[in-house]
Amino acid sequence: MGEPLDPLVGGSAEIARFHRFVVQGPAPTDCHIWRGAVSDDGYGRYWIRRDGKQRVVRPNRYALALALGRPLLDSELALHEVCDNPICVRAGSEPLGRPHVVVGTQSQNLAGMAAKGRGGGRGQMWHWSGLDRAARAARSRALRDAVRDGWDEAAVRSALLASDSPTLF
Ligand SMILES: [Zn+2]
Repeated sequence: MGEPLDPLVGGSAEIARFHRFVVQGPAPTDCHIWRGAVSDDGYGRYWIRRDGKQRVVRPNRYALALALGRPLLDSELALHEVCDNPICVRAGSEPLGRPHVVVGTQSQNLAGMAAKGRGGGRGQMWHWSGLDRAARAARSRALRDAVRDGWDEAAVRSALLASDSPTLF
């Protein structure tokens, strides 16, 4: 069955509204950052309507379904492979750079988390994996606020740096 978040079911107005919540960095390697609501787990929240009911979905899953042109299966995760940024929604193929959000399984997710814990995380400048839930949410919200009125490189960097290395005293 899959989950009912198929963007194609929501239609063009819902998809256009989604895109208005996304701010793209100018560089080919930059994240595309969600500037809507952020949950206590650090991930975004996007409200949609299905069968007359309000539902909330994770923007990274929604973006990935959009890129794939089909809804994700229940067994499919939207993994942050490049950046590990919970509110990054850069999915699908791009003319420049590579997608940050890709389809994966739970075992790939666990393997990726283990690799990041060992200092992997492939080139990301800021490491999210050492943060606890509250610190992740705080960083996501600071980052979201930094791009509220469009991409601001200095604001993005200071949002990430301000909340970096919370255990370093
Ligand atoms: Zn990203």
